[in-house]
Amino acid sequence: MSLSSKKSWVIGFAAALLTTSPVLALQAAPASTVSYIHAGRLLADPATGRVTERQTLVIENGRVREIVDGFVGEGHVVDLSNQFVLPGMIDSHVHITNQQGEGNRVARFTNTAADSAVQGAAYALVTLKAGFTTVADLGGSSDAVVALRNGIAAGKIPGPRLLVSAGTVTPHGGHGDANGVSSAMVPVLRTNGVCSGADECRRAVRERVRSGADIIKITATGGVLSDTGAGLGQQFSDEELAAIVETAHFMGRTVTAHAHGTDGINSFLRAGGDSIEHGTFLDDELIRIFKGNNGWLVPTLLAGDYVAREAARPGTFFTPNQRQKSLEAGPQMLDMARRAHRAGVQIAFGTDSGVSPHGENAKEFALLVQAGLTPLQAVQAATVNAATHFKLQNEIGRLTPGYAADIVAVSGNPLDDVTTLEKVGFVMKGGVVYLQE
Ligand SMILES: [Zn+2]
Repeated sequence: MSLSSKKSWVIGFAAALLTTSPVLALQAAPASTVSYIHAGRLLADPATGRVTERQTLVIENGRVREIVDGFVGEGHVVDLSNQFVLPGMIDSHVHITNQQGEGNRVARFTNTAADSAVQGAAYALVTLKAGFTTVADLGGSSDAVVALRNGIAAGKIPGPRLLVSAGTVTPHGGHGDANGVSSAMVPVLRTNGVCSGADECRRAVRERVRSGADIIKITATGGVLSDTGAGLGQQFSDEELAAIVETAHFMGRTVTAHAHGTDGINSFLRAGGDSIEHGTFLDDELIRIFKGNNGWLVPTLLAGDYVAREAARPGTFFTPNQRQKSLEAGPQMLDMARRAHRAGVQIAFGTDSGVSPHGENAKEFALLVQAGLTPLQAVQAATVNAATHFKLQNEIGRLTPGYAADIVAVSGNPLDDVTTLEKVGFVMKGGVVYLQE
């Protein structure tokens, strides 16, 4: 913390608190003051890949006012003159209110929505401090994630900008239904996102929008971590998928589908779906359809990597159903992303964090590079691409005048070594500093 160096111990003590207390951190740099960020190296617009040196970002009212050559400004100056500065990162797929682990299966019986929101607030802070200034929660219970989103947006609690699907639209017995519990518990655990038949599925989409969904998340195929032996193939009928996509679009929402099996990915894209989460068994014909639709792929390689390792671990906490599907899907994902990227499919960064631990989101970068993306392309996936995927390309993902002041900094050069993004030393969101080491 540079701001404590020449001041009294009292101010030094307060400054030390700033790094540990989220409440104080919220007040560290009021959005109405002008801040001057001295960036040693700056990747302002990842779309161009151009890195400039010795730049000052002038921040006002939570936005980038201008970027000027050299180090200028007085007052609230942030010295990042030996850092590499880039836009805040975006994770298109997280589960902010929970995290896999021993005892996780019991949580759905014991947790109230309030418990989930409190837990989500803790994970949101960890995620923000890892440099992710915008994330999408795909599937968390609507009361918890909507409260969390609104609380963060109002500045009441610290966290990334949150987009929420406010639950999942899923077929009866499908990946998002109450699986692996006694029938007596199903009415308690089943949500109103569960549907069968086109009309019911239209209603399920409308219920999600009513609950506060920014985007619609559906489960087009079976999933790895649902405790059922129903496989990883298509679960909604073509008619249901068409009804879901049409209704969501009527209501101004894009639809993203959790999808592993080839048949489910195909049917969803043919129905006009906007993006695919996972995409595990994507084949060459589907890649052609994908490109024709201008759809986005969110490969969640970190989830594939995590479940394959957990399933192979002696004493794993996975159930036999989870273990079997993990071993089937996990090892496929890197190769899938490699083929999709080589063919020119648009990739948006997403980790499925909550499957893997929150705050480790940036581990996805190394996996994307293993799949053949250059470090710059991996950074683009987490900035300009993810912003466009969420139709926020005029708001976030770049640092140019008028854009949100969502800014992170690292010590190394992520375009040489993308793993430097696993340890950010500075995080600003909307002009407010949340981390400064
Ligand atoms: Zn997920």
